[in-house]
Amino acid sequence: RLEIRNITRVFAGRPVVSDVSLKVMPGQVTCLLGPSGCGKSTTLRIIAGVDMQDRGEIHVDGRLVCDTVYRVPPERRSIGLMFQDFALFPHLSVRDNVAFGLRGDKAARRRRVEELLDRVGLLSALAKYPHELSGGEQQRVALARALAPRPSIMLMDEPFSGLDERLKDEIRDSTLDVLKEEGAAVLLVTHEPHEAMRMADEIALMRDGRIVQQGAPYNIYNAPVDRQAAAFFSDIN
Ligand code: ATP
Ligand code: MG
Repeated sequence: RLEIRNITRVFAGRPVVSDVSLKVMPGQVTCLLGPSGCGKSTTLRIIAGVDMQDRGEIHVDGRLVCDTVYRVPPERRSIGLMFQDFALFPHLSVRDNVAFGLRGDKAARRRRVEELLDRVGLLSALAKYPHELSGGEQQRVALARALAPRPSIMLMDEPFSGLDERLKDEIRDSTLDVLKEEGAAVLLVTHEPHEAMRMADEIALMRDGRIVQQGAPYNIYNAPVDRQAAAFFSDIN
């Protein structure tokens, strides 16, 4: 479970994230949705621990992982990451890419890798290398790699942006299936209302660093908070 409270981040005197609070429960997908430059990636980087907030707190599974004085390092936050360029390690096989973050018993690691690759439908690609895979297949390996250590939280920043337009919905749906089976609390960043409508249990609509509306997708779609929000949803495909 992810809980962030009153996160604020100021760059050069300008607040780019202002007083953002969110809760994401296990098995739920929350989409942080908003136009380019509104502060989505900055929010995600702060949660991941690669940037630091000026105000506010982050809790994972009820445990404080970061406030302005106390800070758990990124690798000990039980957070899985998937960013725009989901760059796999080119010199490692699919199996070794997925095994990369795993600790413990060799047989258990092997079982976990095979379980994940089976889930994303790529068990047959175990011994292949990233350059032998399509973009969509690489995306699925990256998903398996991020989920392998059983993170409590999955942070995803525009994870479908590089993919073929015609394949996107199919990959969104299969990604959602895998996320639900694994049960992590997912925070997914997107600037596409269609993607949020398709994937989210809850949408947090962001503008100029603030969350201006939050709720179930159809509630937001049917009752946007203001004209700007309505316009943002109007060109949904
Ligand atoms: P996009 O949809 O284009 O990815 P975003 O919502 O993810 O946009 P951010 O990357 O969070 O937006 O950036 C928010 C604002 O903060 C932008 O105006 C950006 O220029 C600014 N910003 C981000 N990182 C820094 C930084 N390290 N130093 C100064 N300004 C920054
Ligand atoms: Mg961004």
